[in-house]
Amino acid sequence: MSDNESAKIPEKGLPRSEVLETLRNLKGEDANYKDSKLWSLVYYLGDEHTQFLLEAFSLFFSENLLNPIAFKSLKRLEHEIVRMTASLLSGDTNVVGTVTAGGTESCLLPVVAYRERAFAKHLFRTKKPEMIAPESVHVAWEKGAHYFGVKMVHAPLRSDLRVDVEAVKKLINKHTVLIVASAPSYPHGVIDPIAELGKVAQEYDIPLHVDSCLGGFMLPFLEKLGYKIPPFDFRVPGVTSISADVHKYGYGAKGLSVVLYRNMDYLKHQFFVYENWPGGIFISPALLGTRPGGPIAAGWAAMKTLGMDGYCDVAQRTMNTTVALEKGIQSIPELKILSNPEMSVFAYGSKSRKVNIFAVGDQMEEKGWFVDRLQRPEALHAIVTLPHEHIVDEFTNDLKESVEYVRNHPSLAVKGNAALYGMIAKVPLRGMVKKEALKIMEKMYGPDMTMPY
Ligand SMILES: *Cc1c(COP(=O)(O)O)cnc(C)c1O
Repeated sequence: MSDNESAKIPEKGLPRSEVLETLRNLKGEDANYKDSKLWSLVYYLGDEHTQFLLEAFSLFFSENLLNPIAFKSLKRLEHEIVRMTASLLSGDTNVVGTVTAGGTESCLLPVVAYRERAFAKHLFRTKKPEMIAPESVHVAWEKGAHYFGVKMVHAPLRSDLRVDVEAVKKLINKHTVLIVASAPSYPHGVIDPIAELGKVAQEYDIPLHVDSCLGGFMLPFLEKLGYKIPPFDFRVPGVTSISADVHKYGYGAKGLSVVLYRNMDYLKHQFFVYENWPGGIFISPALLGTRPGGPIAAGWAAMKTLGMDGYCDVAQRTMNTTVALEKGIQSIPELKILSNPEMSVFAYGSKSRKVNIFAVGDQMEEKGWFVDRLQRPEALHAIVTLPHEHIVDEFTNDLKESVEYVRNHPSLAVKGNAALYGMIAKVPLRGMVKKEALKIMEKMYGPDMTMPY
């Protein structure tokens, strides 16, 4: 199809088969998740599970939770997902929450809820709300702070990449409406000291949210399997809310996460009501208006069919794979795992001045791997999922070869993506980096869709 043709809705509708063919062809250049060459973005349990999710999804393809009275079935499914997740995260019967369209929505909503709670409670004290979060907190929280006018105050990390609790304590002031911590953090896969933070939160009477988008559907199974997992959920007294993504390690379809609060006194501040709309009295529990039924049905179905035994089996095999991958990486003298992650997410970097880790990333991409890059410190990133169990040796060998190649070709560090990422990571004026990134976005979203590469 020429660009000219694709710029308009076709005058005459095309045959469905042709349309579908175009869609299939479009996927040709995408990252290869079916061969597990990808370390984020897709949580894939294989074709059979996917077919099952599709069936559940399609049963509720058209249904809309915007109106829970019209679609009581979806409200029932939301209720059951919330209850199952609350029980998984050691919540009592007072724990309440909503399903959301994803981790980002599950992080945006607490920002608004706790801001509103502070306004309702202190009214004249807090007109300049602030929230405290580790430097490693997921970027969705930066977005929430930005969207909802809450000042983000970053707490530094200790050398083990977990947040410094004493530093958090010192950052608390009368404007603080919320403390956030991760279980585990997205970049390094380490769990912040939640129990200690819980004590601080209680001492100062400030809500504590645990972002367990990654860990919510993994850590409880690991604990059941006998792994030593530090307390991170509602068992920690100061924890007031938790987010957990069904569309990550819950292995549902994309578009489902859960946000839970210790009781209705918190959740009620998330609700939005507008009573004067000509379209009717409007009540909304979460961010979206239309709430598609497909992801809710698929996520519910995943939880029901996997069960605790299924999830534990997946978790065990995923940890075996993680350990094997970490061993493989540590067998390469130039590389190291950053800190000591508790679950199946980790960062690996270089401990040799002769090996630039971003150049290693470039070489891995030459070999067909899609790798994510981290900054501060520079590293590569892996979120291990079940199907990675088939590629441990292939990955380790490719990584060995890549490191060796980079060591023998030092100029690679100043070429290609390595140079670009290295340069970006080191630019002291972060405002310039932001400006350049915005330019790239304007090109990508411009009339010609110019992709950076
Ligand atoms: C993935 C993730 C998010 C954001 O979730 P999306 O589903 O990508 O919107 C937030 N926090 C953590 C810890 C995550 O891992």
